[in-house]
Amino acid sequence: MTGIIFDVKRFAVHDGGGLRSTLFLKGCPLRCPWCQNPEGMELRPSLWYSPGECLGCGTCVAVCPENALTLGERVHVERTKCVLCGICEDRCPGGALQHMGREISAREGAELLLRDKVFFGERGGVTLSGGEAMFQWEFAAEVLRLCKEAGADTAIESCLLAPREAMEAMLAVTDHFLIDIKFLDPELHRKHLGADNRIILQNFELLVSQKADVLVRTPLIPGYTATEENIRGIARYIRSVDEDIRYELLNFNPLCRSKYAALEEDYPVGGGALSQKEMENFYRILQEEGIKHIIKE
Ligand code: SF4
Ligand code: SF4
Repeated sequence: MTGIIFDVKRFAVHDGGGLRSTLFLKGCPLRCPWCQNPEGMELRPSLWYSPGECLGCGTCVAVCPENALTLGERVHVERTKCVLCGICEDRCPGGALQHMGREISAREGAELLLRDKVFFGERGGVTLSGGEAMFQWEFAAEVLRLCKEAGADTAIESCLLAPREAMEAMLAVTDHFLIDIKFLDPELHRKHLGADNRIILQNFELLVSQKADVLVRTPLIPGYTATEENIRGIARYIRSVDEDIRYELLNFNPLCRSKYAALEEDYPVGGGALSQKEMENFYRILQEEGIKHIIKE
């Protein structure tokens, strides 16, 4: 069993309880315009270029056997021509080119996550993220099965857009589900993210009915999710499913803009993080809707 990953984070503190190791899997069924990890959206590996590291020497253009690169104010990668041979990456003196995504076995994935097991303590463990971790659900379930077998606490960050068989496989091996509900309105969900949310809500209800440990999270994105109507609607809905549900609002983090610049794409979200006063206003809405367990970052 193999899967395609694009990163491993050690000593993570925001991907579940305690100190954790997080494995990032490639591929996602949604297309959130504000995605913090656009390098994880596509399943297939790709060549990643960081303009900030580039010396403008032109070596990569000269060595590419496919003529996939051109140099102007920056290097442009013609992705349909690139065959990911790695020659430019090896020859780049600035470290500006990087192969994003590699195929590994589930056992290698578990070994990467368990390197720091001695530091996990009572609350820490391993987390799968992405992309969407369940996009490669058979690989994800096998990685977590191996981690559980080794005695580690397991968690998954997911948008829950996954088939029923994936949910059942993950329920068997996952201690904590950190799930995103971004819009309650199916039309808004479809318009902004490329798919409606019926399966997501069904899967959330399945987790609650199975008494799984669930934390619901909503990223507060200006111009998209960060409206009173949306947050009030989500709060009312999740409380109707589970009156003891835990709910966390994630403030917008604009740091990923440089990643979009690297992809030569515009980032559609303007402005910065929400102010403390704006966050407090959203927390007040959660209280009004009866959310008992509000998790603050
Ligand atoms: S990875 Fe190979 S094909 Fe792709 S741009 Fe670099 S040298 Fe060219
Ligand atoms: S080889 Fe590296 S440093 Fe030189 S132009 Fe290409 S990306 Fe930039």
